[in-house]
Amino acid sequence: MNNTGKIVVLDAGYDSYAYEIQLLQKHGYHLNIFDGAYDDWQGKIDFAKDAVGVFVRWTVVNDAFFKALPKLQAVVRYGVGYDNIDIEAANNNGIKIANVQGYANHAVSDHALALMFACARSVKPWHPDDSFGVPPRKEIFEFHDKTLGIIGLGRIGGTLSGKVQSLFQHVLAYDPYIPDQRFKILGAVKVDLQTVLKESNIISLHCNLTDETRHLIQKQQFDQMQQQPILINTSRGPVVKRNALRYALDKNIIHSAGLDVYETEPPNAEDLSILSYVNVVGTGHVAWYSDASSAELQKRAANNMLAMLQGKVPADCLN
Ligand code: NAD
Repeated sequence: MNNTGKIVVLDAGYDSYAYEIQLLQKHGYHLNIFDGAYDDWQGKIDFAKDAVGVFVRWTVVNDAFFKALPKLQAVVRYGVGYDNIDIEAANNNGIKIANVQGYANHAVSDHALALMFACARSVKPWHPDDSFGVPPRKEIFEFHDKTLGIIGLGRIGGTLSGKVQSLFQHVLAYDPYIPDQRFKILGAVKVDLQTVLKESNIISLHCNLTDETRHLIQKQQFDQMQQQPILINTSRGPVVKRNALRYALDKNIIHSAGLDVYETEPPNAEDLSILSYVNVVGTGHVAWYSDASSAELQKRAANNMLAMLQGKVPADCLN
């Protein structure tokens, strides 16, 4: 085997890698897929020995990772969020990094909406043994006279704002890093974080995970929520402090929560205990997925990898 062309997938899980294999083979590379445990970091390093390119989803990619793989040139994150990749260490080690941006704007914003509806209408599959025509014994609310608050008005938050204009009475958004014009175009009223927390009936989180957004929502923020809102998190689990979420559920500060992401992933016992609340609807980090988005994700990831190995700037360049 010609090791100079070795590329590895370290976090497997897609049904097929046919596109990647075909494209990369055409250019003299061969794809190897690691099928060990998701948290076997050393096993992954051993497997990736001599690789010039690595595809990851959740593997931690840091200075030690780069130092252990001296032939490595490029890393592609299958997805948008790249909080598991140390970009500064990549720069210091001369490694090129790409992700895949925007492929799931509709999938994730649709999923956020699905969680909102599931929470607001207490959607559960009906069973013939259940009572019929009897409303659930909790508050069911309509959206038309309510306020949606979006935290993070980037690609996904912006897509959500665009698609809910006739669903809610008001759409508020907090994002300190984008121009005022974008709020106007997307039909969202620009407000500060406190106003989103105070006035929203539904709060949907769409910021990326950074040092600043880690635990952005903790007890103090829950205490500012005045409308007993639904909280939706399809961004990253650690944006919400788990114990503070438990506090908000115990004190009925929030109506309910729809979660696709967890402070620890895969969710540990503490995360799972949050899912046991009757007013929490959970999905397992699948908001990104649709038939269309997953096909686009793999195609663009493969093309980004090839571009970087050919010395070109990839479409989704991160450094
Ligand atoms: P994006 O970079 O386009 O948008 C993120 C926005 O958050 C930016 O506009 C940024 O200015 C804003 N932001 C940063 N710090 C903030 C802060 N302190 N307060 C408020 N806003 C802040 O990214 P995107 O493509 O919209 O994706 C957003 C996140 O969604 C990703 O980083 C990823 O973590 C998550 N995601 C999850 C899934 C899933 O399957 N659950 C899929 C795709 C993306």
